[in-house]
Amino acid sequence: MLGSPTPRPAPRPRRISELLARKEPTFSFEFFPPKTPEGERMLWRAIREIEALRPSFVSVTYGAGGSTRDRTVNVTEKIATNTTLLPVAHITAVNHSVRELRHLIGRFAAAGVCNMLALRGDPPGDPLGEWVKHPEGLTHAEELVRLIKESGDFCVGVAAFPYKHPRSPDVETDTDFFVRKCRAGADYAITQMFFEAEDYLRLRDRVAARGCDVPIIPEIMPVTKFSTIARSEQLSGAPFPRRLAEEFERVADDPEAVRALGIEHATRLCERLLAEGAPGIHFITFNRSTATREVYHRLVGATQPAAVAALP
Ligand code: FAD
Repeated sequence: MLGSPTPRPAPRPRRISELLARKEPTFSFEFFPPKTPEGERMLWRAIREIEALRPSFVSVTYGAGGSTRDRTVNVTEKIATNTTLLPVAHITAVNHSVRELRHLIGRFAAAGVCNMLALRGDPPGDPLGEWVKHPEGLTHAEELVRLIKESGDFCVGVAAFPYKHPRSPDVETDTDFFVRKCRAGADYAITQMFFEAEDYLRLRDRVAARGCDVPIIPEIMPVTKFSTIARSEQLSGAPFPRRLAEEFERVADDPEAVRALGIEHATRLCERLLAEGAPGIHFITFNRSTATREVYHRLVGATQPAAVAALP
């Protein structure tokens, strides 16, 4: 006699909003488009190592122009078609007409990419230079959110800035514009990197006080070299916390100690964020997976031995 059929496992959600709705922490990783064949090899090594961890999703940043942009599209398409990973495509409005943006959205859709991160982007060359919109383009991310939503059944994320966006006059104005982006249809947000949990928690409180409950995923970058501190200031547009900088300065001439402190600090920060109810962690990898895998390993080690066993 036939027994009762074995229940099939539920299909894995394909939309970031569905993953977040499960109320289990998401773990995701960000890559950038490589410029050289060696960079391409390094990226794919990192992608395969991260794939073994079965992360919730991965994202690929959108280049400032020309060939880097094609590489973003190619890498994202290849992740969608040649791996088991769920890709999120970053899209920016820089130097694009609305027609070109529609075409880009269509290319991602054709490759099966249904998750996007809608960004205004920065002027190429000088991120703090004057923003000049394409004559037939868009001015703010809010408009890009609407364009993507009108173009099909996409799950759309936006950027959030714990320290405020460098162009915003103050945090309150910045929060108002963030909430406008969410009300334009954003399903989730990912923050700029930050180093103290309070900065994230204050942002979340400001957003909640405006009646907006869009999940905000914190973006974390482990410091692995002393020079990463200066790099983080350039990328985030905010000074690195003084107290933490002093901790790194004490071990500055010992690269191993700097790395160990960076991993330890990132792990503690992620633990605190998850304990405070952050919906997940989005890691910046710089296309090298070792440090972020180490933090991930420490975070999930106690609860998901199978995922850790997959670490090569
Ligand atoms: P917007 O939301 O348009 O905000 C830009 C500025 O305008 C802010 O000061 C904001 O407060 C203000 N503003 C917003 N809406 C309005 C409005 N309606 N009226 C008046 N002012 C308004 N850059 C890339 O080039 N490629 C990437 O792949 C990329 N990925 C990123 C991923 C994350 C998680 C983050 C946090 C940033 C990323 N960036 C990327 C950088 C981002 O493009 C820049 O920080 C850009 O300057 C701001 O983009 P935005 O989408 O927040 O723009």
